[in-house]
Amino acid sequence: MVKVLIASRIHEKGVELLKSNGLEVSMVDEPSEDELAELIKGYHGLIVRSKPLVTRKVIESADKLLVIARAGVGVDNIDVEAARSRGIEVITVPEATTVSVAELTIGLMIAVARKIAFCDREMRRGAWPKKHGEGFELSGKVLGVIGAGRIGASVARIAKHGLNMGIVYYSTTRKPWLEEELDAKYLPLDELLKTADVVTIHVSLTNETRHMINEEKLRLMKRNAILINTSRGAVIDTNALVKALKEGWIAGAGLDVYEEEPLPRDHPLTKLDNVVLTPHIGASTHEAQERAGVQIAEKLVQYFKQKELLK
Ligand code: NAD
Repeated sequence: MVKVLIASRIHEKGVELLKSNGLEVSMVDEPSEDELAELIKGYHGLIVRSKPLVTRKVIESADKLLVIARAGVGVDNIDVEAARSRGIEVITVPEATTVSVAELTIGLMIAVARKIAFCDREMRRGAWPKKHGEGFELSGKVLGVIGAGRIGASVARIAKHGLNMGIVYYSTTRKPWLEEELDAKYLPLDELLKTADVVTIHVSLTNETRHMINEEKLRLMKRNAILINTSRGAVIDTNALVKALKEGWIAGAGLDVYEEEPLPRDHPLTKLDNVVLTPHIGASTHEAQERAGVQIAEKLVQYFKQKELLK
C-alpha cells in the first residue's frame, strides 16, 4: 500500500481525497527535523506546507520516499537539491494561494497608507488620532512590483483596475502581456525603487534574492514611499529596514513575512508605529487552504497513478 505522511495540516477534503483513492495516510503536526527524520521511514509521499523543514538529513533518512508535495508555493523549506540527488520529486500547487496573497498585499498597502492599524491601536487606548491619522491616497500613485510572477501580476491587476495606480515592475524577464494589459513599464531595480510610491515584493527566495532589499536599496526609495513584503522575510535585510523606518528614509512598511518566524517578542519592528504586521497569513484563507489541500492531493494521486503504484 502507498503510504503518505502529512506533516503539516491540510484541508480535510484533501485528506479524504487521498484516502478515497486508496492511499494510507498518517498525520503529524510540523515535527522537528530529528522527529521527521525518524518518522519519514516507510513513507512513499510526504506532504508539507511552509513547515516543517525538509532538510538533507530528513531526505537522507527516508528509505522509500518518492515525492515531496508542498501544499502551496515556495519550496524554501525543502532542500530541493538533496531531493533531486536522490531522485525524489518535489511538486507544488502554485496557483492555489495567489488570490489570497494578492488580496492581503492590497490590504497591507491600504492599511499602511491610511494608518489603519495605528488608528485602531490609538482608539483602543482611548485616543482620537484624527490628526496623526492623516495618510495618502493610492489612486494616481505608482506601484512598483518586484517579481512579476503569479502574485505580483495579480496585485498589479487589482492596483491598476481597482485603485487606478500606475504600474512599474522589475522581474527576471520582461512580461510583454503585463505591459500590454496594464500599461506596465519595465524598470531596472534601482530605477523602480527611485520611482515607486508603493514598492511590493513578490520574488521567490533564492540565493540571488536573499537581502535583495538592503540598506543601499532602501536609501534609493522616496522618503514618502512605503514598502510591502508578502513574499519571504529574508528578501529584506531586516536590520536595514528597521533603520530605514526609524530614520525616515521611507514612510512605512507592511509585512507578512520575517527573517525569523515567529517574529521574536519585542522585536524592534513591533515598536514602530509606521509598520503594519501580520503573522504570515498570506495564504490563510478558507478558500486558499481548501484549494491547496485538494489540488495537492489530486496531484499526488495522479503522480502515484503515473508510477503505476495506484490504480
Ligand atoms: P512566481 O514564481 O510566480 O513569481 C516569482 C517572480 O519573481 C517570477 O516572475 C520571477 O521571475 C521573479 N524573480 C525571481 N527571482 C528574481 C530576481 N532575482 N530578480 C527579479 N525577479 C525575480 O511566484 P508567486 O506564486 O508569485 O509567489 C511569489 C512569492 O510569494 C514567493 O516568494 C512565495 O514564497 C511567496 N508566497 C507567500 C505567501 C504568504 O503566505 N505570505 C503565500 C504564497 C506565496
